[in-house]
Amino acid sequence: MTWHCPKCGNVVLENAGFCAYCGTPIRIVQPVEIRRSGLPVAGGILQIISACICVIVATISMAILATSSYSYYYYYYSPWGFWFVGAFGLIGFAFGLVGGILTLRRKYFETALIGASLVMISGLISVTAWGALPYSGFVFALFGIPTIILSALSLIFIAASKMEFA
Ligand SMILES: [Zn+2]
Repeated sequence: MTWHCPKCGNVVLENAGFCAYCGTPIRIVQPVEIRRSGLPVAGGILQIISACICVIVATISMAILATSSYSYYYYYYSPWGFWFVGAFGLIGFAFGLVGGILTLRRKYFETALIGASLVMISGLISVTAWGALPYSGFVFALFGIPTIILSALSLIFIAASKMEFA
């Protein structure tokens, strides 16, 4: 790489300290190479996995809603609860997928963080809503708790690699 004097434009030797033609002091600053860690890759993959679990829970919630007009669930819960869990699961999935891809590409730090946060909130909602049900609660807690753990790890990895994001 060749360097040019900012004053006269002539070529300057790399370690010269001043321009040989006009005497202007030169300080050559090498561009700082940002070290790339594996954290965004891990964070992105974890976020996408939790987003996929989110969409599974959302689909099951909505499927139960669609088929359960006579089921015992109605004795315990308003149908709006199923819609809420389902809708928020889909939102969590969409943001988690976008956030996960952005994390893998090290782009848009804030959006990547929002994605992982929404996936985590979706996991919390499904654990809370489904965990309160008398019989099937634990099954959904088994989905929700991994979602919370994986997206929390993803959040930590994204936050720790902020410098790597463009
Ligand atoms: Zn010069």
